[in-house]
Amino acid sequence: MLVTEDSDRVRRRRARHRVKPLVLGTAFVRHKHSVLLEPRGRFYRYHWEIRSHLSSFGLLNAIRLLEESQWWPPARLNALRDSKLRRLVAHAYAQIPYYRHMMDESGVRPSDIQGVADLHRLPILAKDTLRNHYDELRARDIPDRKTELGVTGGTTGNPMRVRRDKAGTVWQRASYWRGYSWGGLHPGDAWVQVFGGALGLAQPTLLNKLKNWFAGKLFLPAFELGAHNVDAYIEAIRRSGARFLVGYTSACHLFAQHVERTGQDLKFEAVFPTAELLHEQWAETIGRVFGAKVLPYYGCGEVQSLGYSCPVAPRPLYHTCDEHVIIEIEGEPGQTHLAGEGPFLVTDLDNLAMPLIRYRNGDAGVLAEPGCDCGRSLRRIQRLDGRVNDVLITTRGDAISGAIGAHSFRLVQQVDQFQIVQRRPGQITIKVVAGAEYDPRVAEPTLDRIFRNHLGADAVVEFEYVTSIPRTVAGKARVVVNQYLEEQAKPQPPNS
Ligand SMILES: [Zn+2]
Repeated sequence: MLVTEDSDRVRRRRARHRVKPLVLGTAFVRHKHSVLLEPRGRFYRYHWEIRSHLSSFGLLNAIRLLEESQWWPPARLNALRDSKLRRLVAHAYAQIPYYRHMMDESGVRPSDIQGVADLHRLPILAKDTLRNHYDELRARDIPDRKTELGVTGGTTGNPMRVRRDKAGTVWQRASYWRGYSWGGLHPGDAWVQVFGGALGLAQPTLLNKLKNWFAGKLFLPAFELGAHNVDAYIEAIRRSGARFLVGYTSACHLFAQHVERTGQDLKFEAVFPTAELLHEQWAETIGRVFGAKVLPYYGCGEVQSLGYSCPVAPRPLYHTCDEHVIIEIEGEPGQTHLAGEGPFLVTDLDNLAMPLIRYRNGDAGVLAEPGCDCGRSLRRIQRLDGRVNDVLITTRGDAISGAIGAHSFRLVQQVDQFQIVQRRPGQITIKVVAGAEYDPRVAEPTLDRIFRNHLGADAVVEFEYVTSIPRTVAGKARVVVNQYLEEQAKPQPPNS
């Protein structure tokens, strides 16, 4: 469905009206779906109202502020970023041994960083530093009990840990709710989330199940999804009554393909694919079959909310969460590059518990200044590289998430690095850089079983032992290299 400029202008006017001082209990009446919400959804929103009201700054306050600030003049947004950055750098110098050491070493003082334009004077934070220097990156004045721990799947069996304080968590969540709201999804609405999952590692706790029910969220594990159970997934989605689907690109596409093949009828208002490249023809299939807006979004495990699809621009064009993160391009030294092409450096402006400043997250792409037809003052990601073709094709020809690779390697010991190369459907070669005590007699049958479960019983799983695995231009270790898809068709670069 095309959204015209006119209807967006109306929505913008509505968004302005929504930003009002917090009045407990009345705020949601303005929500356009309120009357349709079941008691669970209403109660869920009230609970957030109360939590926001009790704390000095809660999730709903942050969402309201972001709904307003996206329309601010760019100069006002820049001033907010500059002031958040000054606070972040002063805090990092005072409380984080790593930053103090690095800044002393390069002769940079906190007062030298007056704003985003001075960011280039600070050192770049590499993945290995984050992986190996957790203690030196933790703020000394924020105890663990006031933080949440995020663990992101590493490709080396040594995952990265990021501590996030309350403000960091609130802004991160508010950023994704603003992004989802561009497709009509608001807190309390029923929605389906198809992400990672257990792979037999851990079952969801009763508490998590209750939380999900309360939030209106139906969580479905993407790694368990295959041709044999896709019908059961679709039935569960239908029963939930959800109008919104969030999940791995390959899972969204598999649902759409199956619904079409079997002549079923399943509709969504919006679908938010993520974590994998969205081929143009996949976006078309998902949109057509579900009658939905298709709004891919972009995040990384360490910072999470980075970019959300503009509901107006020719897709995919992502708006960055400028109030919460700075994304720059790693380019010529002596200047901060906020536009252009190259590897990304990401700065989380809100998390003081473990600040990530100029973090090289391994992705790359093209950044542009604000200037979108939608009228938002947010900056733009015009192209995203580095996650190309990270899907695997089963013996039946279905695409499944390549993220299963990183997940399955958590089940085997002593693998320093690995990569999965696919040369034809239903076939993979697993390249392994083995650790000293790696035992192929244990690891190979485990991996063989997992991958044949997902790729098909007749799938061919081969092993190749190597001493190193080359990285991409952006410094990213690619978990899946799908040579078959690369030969089939080069993905189309998105429109700007
Ligand atoms: Zn836009």
